[in-house]
Amino acid sequence: MSSTSAQIGVTGLAVMGRNLARNFARNGYTVALHNRTAAKTQALVEEFGHEGEFIATETAKEFVAALERPRRLVIMVKAGEPTDAVIKEFAPLMEPGDMIIDGGNAHFADTRRRERELREQDIHFVGTGVSGGEEGALLGPSIMPGGSQESYASLGPMLEKISAKAKDGSPCVTHVGPDGAGHFVKMVHNGIEYADMQLIAEAYQLLRDVAGYSPAQIADIFRTWNTGRLDSYLIEITAEVLKHVDAATGKPFVDVVQDRAEQKGTGRWTVQIALDLGVPVSGIAEAVFARSLSGHTELRAASKELAGPTARALSEAEAGAFADQVEQALYASKIVSYTQGFHEVAAGSEEYGWDIDLGSVAAIWRGGCIIRAAFLDRIRAAYDTRADLPSLLSDKTFAQEIGAAQDDWRAVLVAATQQGVPTPGFSAALAYYDALRADRLPAALTQGQRDFFGAHTYRRTDREGSFHTLWGADR
Ligand code: NAP
Repeated sequence: MSSTSAQIGVTGLAVMGRNLARNFARNGYTVALHNRTAAKTQALVEEFGHEGEFIATETAKEFVAALERPRRLVIMVKAGEPTDAVIKEFAPLMEPGDMIIDGGNAHFADTRRRERELREQDIHFVGTGVSGGEEGALLGPSIMPGGSQESYASLGPMLEKISAKAKDGSPCVTHVGPDGAGHFVKMVHNGIEYADMQLIAEAYQLLRDVAGYSPAQIADIFRTWNTGRLDSYLIEITAEVLKHVDAATGKPFVDVVQDRAEQKGTGRWTVQIALDLGVPVSGIAEAVFARSLSGHTELRAASKELAGPTARALSEAEAGAFADQVEQALYASKIVSYTQGFHEVAAGSEEYGWDIDLGSVAAIWRGGCIIRAAFLDRIRAAYDTRADLPSLLSDKTFAQEIGAAQDDWRAVLVAATQQGVPTPGFSAALAYYDALRADRLPAALTQGQRDFFGAHTYRRTDREGSFHTLWGADR
């Protein structure tokens, strides 16, 4: 089927673009299609043309001409230079009031630059996070658009239609804020995703190496956890991965896969930006470092002779009790990593004047995206109760829950330390929790050291002003 004017166009028809285009078409929109390699455009129409109205185009001119005004042109190409190249190709063909929407995983600083440059041409540039992978793009992703209020008024209803829906039926999309706000929030989403995955991986290793469970038994434990407060997509798929048996060897899948995790960069960006903003995202940082460490096979091979403790086998009853404690530790550490992630969103919002509504961010992560979880409903409720919550840990419900979990959390870390199982995520989370609740931190001593070697001065607890001590004068 074809018509003369499309409500939306998608250029970049690899897995994400093609599925997003199909999602728009399945929801009743006429979609103009374009790809650098035109064969992909044809292939999409041949295979999925029956799903809705598509207009296949070959040249940039044809593509832009196929769009009704104001034009809505979605770019789904490789992030970085390819995105700039595509903008350079299409922007001169657009008119004031038109929109270019970048759904790739752009760095928010690039999005800010592109938005500024296109604004001079009166073109709305909407950098938008899209989460949910290939399947989400087709069936309903979580969408995090930035850009102008005016662009959202025109684009928002379409995004609401194609987005995932939370359990209460609300669409998993909101206007996050101006310019780079959407891509910033998507970046932090991915950072939290890294932390969630690392924490789950540590829980798995503790259940295997300390409690002595098999991957299939651990799959059952995760399945049980998924019926409670840890109910989430990542726990659900973890159970699937753990129960999977390699067809070639008959061994558990996790035992035939190399233990080196890859990364694309959004986790690293989350940590880099957190360092710039002075926000402690130690859980996310440990998750990024854990992936890096796993990849240093030469260092690991050279460290095989390092001494470790003697492992002690747990009885069946002890193992069962330990698994319950690991659930507590995992939940408590998860509260901390979300606390840190939302702190980073709040700090970014403050720095760039985005005025991001943190409750809405939690709400749009409830469906469609990789970190979707029942838990996010509770975060939304916490911000609904108090929009200026200084930290998720200052929400009464979360504070009570983490308080109730802390004894087991500590017990798990004692066992991990005694048995020599690395738990950087759990440990960093507990250190953050203990640092926040401490009456006094050793930073007072750090201040003394800084003043000693660099005359950096210090502040006192009992008097206003800054002070310097003539160190060594009394020696
Ligand atoms: P991709 O592999 O990142 O990119 C392939 C697409 O980019 C193809 O359509 C390719 O065209 C086009 N392209 C590359 N360089 C180009 C250039 N210089 N000029 C014009 N077109 C160019 O595809 P993807 O995995 O579908 O991801 C698309 C975007 O979504 C990326 O930014 C990615 O980070 C983001 N994203 C991906 C996922 C995911 O799960 N994959 C999830 C969320 C967001 P040709 O066919 O001509 O080569």
